[in-house]
Amino acid sequence: MSDKFDVVVIGSGPAGYVAAIKAAQLGLNTACVEQWLDDKGAVKLGGTCLNVGCIPSKALLDTSHKYVEARDHFAEHGIKVKAPAIDVGAMLKRKDKIVGQLTGGIAGLFKHNGVTPIEGRGKVLSGPRVEVTNSKGETSVLEASNVIIAAGSVPVEIPPAPIDNEYIVDSTGALEFSEVPGRLGVIGAGVIGLELGSVWGRLGSEVVVLEALDEFLPMMDVQIAKEAGKIFKKQGLDIRLGTRVTGAEVKDGKVTVTYATSDGDHQEVFDKLIVAVGRRPRSEELLASDSGVSLDERGFIYVDDYCATEAPHVYAVGDVVRGPMLAHKGSEEGVMVAERIAGKPAQMNYDVIPSVIYTHPEVAAVGKTEQQLKSEGVEYKSGVFPFVASGRALASGDSDGMVKMLADTETDRILGCHIVGPSAADLVQQVVIAMEFGSSAEDLALTVFGHPTLSEAVHEAALAVDGHAIHIA
Ligand code: FAD
Repeated sequence: MSDKFDVVVIGSGPAGYVAAIKAAQLGLNTACVEQWLDDKGAVKLGGTCLNVGCIPSKALLDTSHKYVEARDHFAEHGIKVKAPAIDVGAMLKRKDKIVGQLTGGIAGLFKHNGVTPIEGRGKVLSGPRVEVTNSKGETSVLEASNVIIAAGSVPVEIPPAPIDNEYIVDSTGALEFSEVPGRLGVIGAGVIGLELGSVWGRLGSEVVVLEALDEFLPMMDVQIAKEAGKIFKKQGLDIRLGTRVTGAEVKDGKVTVTYATSDGDHQEVFDKLIVAVGRRPRSEELLASDSGVSLDERGFIYVDDYCATEAPHVYAVGDVVRGPMLAHKGSEEGVMVAERIAGKPAQMNYDVIPSVIYTHPEVAAVGKTEQQLKSEGVEYKSGVFPFVASGRALASGDSDGMVKMLADTETDRILGCHIVGPSAADLVQQVVIAMEFGSSAEDLALTVFGHPTLSEAVHEAALAVDGHAIHIA
């Protein structure tokens, strides 16, 4: 194996593996260093997203959604089934199979594109060079014309609720419960807390979500967040805002959580507790003191708009740098950096990155929220279309929620779109494309949408921006 590469990528998550494949496709001799090993000591590619994040959580969300469909909705379609039962072991086995299929797929893509995978922990030295310490403790140094750091992130831990991986778990532990907890506490009503709370709630857990903030989903459009909150409440998720967890004690197989609200101290007893209070960049032990790469005050690697660090030829992408901690954001940064290394004038549009909460219904957003436009003093128009007026949504018995579109009053340019409703993740992507092309609301209003589709709700919201939706009074 050559120890000199055009590009050495540290980390094989969606930011790193995509950067590595793109760099190799552009003719650069590329290696990808990954430290994560499976039970058999083989290197695990795919990072958080494929192994313990996006993919396994969606596998469990899909299983639990099917279970609810069978339990609560088949009868109204005239489909008779015996009361369904969940086999948690089989559900986890299916999830693991999907994860294995996808991570194995990356190994295949590396081979196909000529990326050299290297097992070990990478550290950026001056030069740039990368020191790799493998699982046997052996150290080698790779010469690199360019280094891309894609070391990702790890869950934040909080002192009042230390993870014990049995009763108090982080998001990774919450993907592995061997049975449905009777009572489940979740600290944090963010994306991960809501998704994992939904999985186990649908399968029968009584779920209580404790959130320190007074506002629900403050990063989302306030109207959409309110609607989502109402729907989740109807589904039985008990979301308690303004609750600050002060302690968690494990005794006799139960977790007693103490928390404070404006009206005093309270206690709840759970079978399991998920701590989902956010993630932090994994930037410790990654940089030699003379690497020339610096961190910001929150531990993120400091980069410019093109993901270049302060050290020449060293870049950083994904969760380890500023911006939303989302797989697709990291992947696009990886592509941009690979192209820039290959001499192309690539850039990234940070204003048009979709974000999704994969509850049911899904909550999805792109661009500015109404409250952001107000605070920035932007004059805007808004169009809202409820799914209850969509023929397709009614036909599938999935008509909770709405599409909301925001456009500039003067130019009609689309400034944001916010959806809570069926297939919101896929619907919002239509608006992402429109925004990337600088579309006006009228452009979408004048576009032909197939009938009957959920997409028609996007069309109607665009028509509603000028007050001319067809199917609402
Ligand atoms: P990571 O995926 O964290 O990968 C970093 C890799 O680098 C790891 O494999 C790590 O072992 C390796 N590494 C770190 N340091 C070193 C080193 N020194 N040497 C060698 N290797 C190293 N995002 C979405 O967009 N959609 C979703 O639906 C979604 N769902 C999620 C659900 C859950 C439960 C969680 C936890 C996260 C979810 N995310 C989702 C977030 C998403 O997983 C991350 O944004 C994404 O994985 C970040 O990619 P990354 O490549 O920057 O880092």
